[in-house]
Amino acid sequence: MATRIPEAHKRTYENVFICKNCKTKIRADPRKITENKVKCRRCGQKNFRKVRKK
Ligand SMILES: [Zn+2]
Repeated sequence: MATRIPEAHKRTYENVFICKNCKTKIRADPRKITENKVKCRRCGQKNFRKVRKK
């Protein structure tokens, strides 16, 4: 995927998390993830990881 605005692209990806349980992508404030304020809308769990593996 070509990106014309690298900063926006990076920011977008940094705010995307994946549920460890059902692999659903959720865009949220990283601070909220840290504070466990974000629930997965599919399975209701609060275990998330960042979208990039490496
Ligand atoms: Zn889930």
